[in-house]
Amino acid sequence: MFINTHTHSQVHDAKIELVNIQLDSTNKPNHYSYGIHPWYIKKDTIDNELENLRIAGHEKRCLAIGECGLDKVCDVDFNLQLEVFTEQIQIANSIKKPLIVHCVKAFNELINCLNHHDNQVPVIVHGFNNNENIARVMVDQGLYFSFGKALLGYQSNAAKALKNVGRKNFFLETDDADISIKYIYHKAAEILGIEEEFMREQLKNNFETVFKLKL
Ligand SMILES: [Zn+2]
Repeated sequence: MFINTHTHSQVHDAKIELVNIQLDSTNKPNHYSYGIHPWYIKKDTIDNELENLRIAGHEKRCLAIGECGLDKVCDVDFNLQLEVFTEQIQIANSIKKPLIVHCVKAFNELINCLNHHDNQVPVIVHGFNNNENIARVMVDQGLYFSFGKALLGYQSNAAKALKNVGRKNFFLETDDADISIKYIYHKAAEILGIEEEFMREQLKNNFETVFKLKL
């Protein structure tokens, strides 16, 4: 069984594809997440969007809030990003669904924000490709990781982190990359030096635990 924990399009090569869709999407896959990405926060419409998210988040097939998060490399005002992320932490906690997080050069702020708002839901940092120090802090905070195409790079940070984060703490994804999740699985098992079948079982358990879903 293959599980793609974060993607933007459905390609039907996994039993579970957690597809990040727009709030106004009319074509909803079996499993999806809604969130307001820091890149696309617009001051004029944000209150409305958050209100819609607060309602839509309850939908049964919406398994998580995200992707949302913090990004110091984009043009959107960082304080506004913090406000909008905080709102989404609160929404996720009120409906008890995990957060799928996009984080670029703002890991301290991410952790502070989660702790300050007494976050209790699982947090999955997606597309992780950062150094060991950051990975260690995140592990200590009990966060989860989702690894994607960065695993394909030779001795990438993602590959190093995968070996260190612990088997109960990770997921695999394609995000917006045009590759099969099966290939990412193959690569990850190779990096870990374990049987792919064993890893598939582990990822199924991880998914069931974090998303409270029986597969
Ligand atoms: Zn994404």
